[in-house]
Amino acid sequence: MEEDYVFKIVVIGDSAVGKTQLLGRFTRDEFFFDSKSTIGIEFQTRTVDIGRKRVKAQIWDTAGQERYRAVTSAYYRGALGAMLVYDITKRHTFEHATRWVDELRAHADKSIVVMLIGNKADLTGRAVHADEAAAFAEEQGLFFSEASALSGENVERAFLRLLHEIHANVS
Ligand code: GDP
Repeated sequence: MEEDYVFKIVVIGDSAVGKTQLLGRFTRDEFFFDSKSTIGIEFQTRTVDIGRKRVKAQIWDTAGQERYRAVTSAYYRGALGAMLVYDITKRHTFEHATRWVDELRAHADKSIVVMLIGNKADLTGRAVHADEAAAFAEEQGLFFSEASALSGENVERAFLRLLHEIHANVS
């Protein structure tokens, strides 16, 4: 069946925080222990029903571009949503979230819906308190969730929340 909407979503954040794995978990319910299997693939899709509408989420992966600080404005073009990912065990990846928010403000549409994701919630050795991340998210106008691409915890819920919020904006 034809979809009613196609929503472009970009996944951003520092290298190795789990962007590719989150995408794989949501679109294919997969996790690859030893991955960069999606290198070269620009986006993956999954179609879900939101209310009475059929929504195709077209989710873009940086495919490693962030390593070279070369995430281009083309990447953000037309994006209605963003998943800004950090690793809860690596404090610097959370501190860099500010830079990623600036990047979004500079290149993405003003109305883009952003969800901050503290990934790798399955790991011990937390370096970022959830309350601190929630406060940052609130101050910046972002939604927030911790998640684990490995266990799958909260991944579906976070993506669906983002899609619902985008849908509420466009309808
Ligand atoms: P990207 O560079 O942000 O796309 O990160 P990847 O998705 O390639 O993941 C980087 C590393 O973190 C890989 O070794 C993954 O197996 C691992 N990883 C990703 N998500 C999780 C997670 O939720 N929990 C744990 N324990 N490891 C993860």
